[in-house]
Amino acid sequence: MHDHRELGRELGLFGSDPLIGAGLPYWLPDGAAVRHALEEYIRGQERAAGYRHVYSPVLGKRELYEISGHWAHYRDDMFPPMELGGGEQVVLRPSLCPHHAVLFRSQARSYRDLPLRLAELGGMFRAELSGVLAGLTRVRAIQLNDAHLFCTPEQVEEEAAGALELIGRAYAAMGIRAARYRLSLPGPGGKYAAAPEMWRRATEALVGVLERLGLPYEAEEGEAAFYGPKIDVQVRDHAGRESTLSTVQVDFHQPERFGLRYVGADGARHRPVMVHRSVVGSVERAVAQLVEVHGGAFPAWLAPVQVAVLPVAAEQEAAAREFAARCVALGLRVEVADARQGSLGARVRRARLVPYQGVIGAREAADGLVAPRLRDGRRPAPLPGPELASRIAALVGAYGVRLWDGPDAG
Ligand SMILES: [Zn+2]
Repeated sequence: MHDHRELGRELGLFGSDPLIGAGLPYWLPDGAAVRHALEEYIRGQERAAGYRHVYSPVLGKRELYEISGHWAHYRDDMFPPMELGGGEQVVLRPSLCPHHAVLFRSQARSYRDLPLRLAELGGMFRAELSGVLAGLTRVRAIQLNDAHLFCTPEQVEEEAAGALELIGRAYAAMGIRAARYRLSLPGPGGKYAAAPEMWRRATEALVGVLERLGLPYEAEEGEAAFYGPKIDVQVRDHAGRESTLSTVQVDFHQPERFGLRYVGADGARHRPVMVHRSVVGSVERAVAQLVEVHGGAFPAWLAPVQVAVLPVAAEQEAAAREFAARCVALGLRVEVADARQGSLGARVRRARLVPYQGVIGAREAADGLVAPRLRDGRRPAPLPGPELASRIAALVGAYGVRLWDGPDAG
């Protein structure tokens, strides 16, 4: 595995500058393309799984976090409040849950509306000490793939299981592997909301899901959120260090604090449960993991450039532009490396991380063909340009790690 910081610099994906500040990375166009592809994939998967997307601001009044419990249990990780005058204080949010709880509360809810799955790829902030900041894995400004599933107590296991299935599917598409599943329980000390019965019920629900799905897990004390236990999906980085990428959490605490209600089938008012879940965790950490696992050779759907078009000589440049335009029209990210950029061999080498190369020599141009070369060295037979473009678009749209299929898949 590779260190994502070195590779990120080398491949021009992201960087940081002391003038912007430690733990505040920026994304260059190629890195932004990877991130955008990942975010769009996640939104698509969530839409298909019945989630509704929302937006909420990255700031909130201090009172919001006093109600949620963050102010009492999590303040050390928050940025200091900003004084707006007149006694008003706002803080950069340390999580999205309080905003989503307020969104739930903004309308009358009935049991028929549940489960209500609110998702947001939103910004949040953590006042990490500068000593622990590292590339994209520990940052102060985080883009979180977050969602809150508001449901009845009976729906908790089903919702948590659905979230774990989404996580499994995303990992397969991204070509990454979970190192282990951790059941994160509270430990000693005052970090946790005190309500033993609530912790017992929430833990029971999570154990039920893990056992139902047959996932091996290890329980660990002192790793829970302050409001409830979680299932954490752990991954390993290039140095073998473990960190949490994805998570599923059961929370009886914040619904209580925000006074959330829904009208049940019996006409009475009931308290919903909040299941917090993240499929790929923070976009920063997910991209760091992708860079380290694939060494820059991303699955085709994530690659900054998906197709490199290589005319052998200047005479084939028009044909190359035409093939490139067809690929672009199908939504692919394409680059034409023409003969002015060096010998064909040099251009092939420069495009070695690009999943698909389309080579057009005199013979191909005369017949309207393009010769595909795959990143792994395979060279399927030349195809008519439009057919090759559609074939690549279909493979990219399948969100997998396979580069080719069909009779010449090898
Ligand atoms: Zn949450």
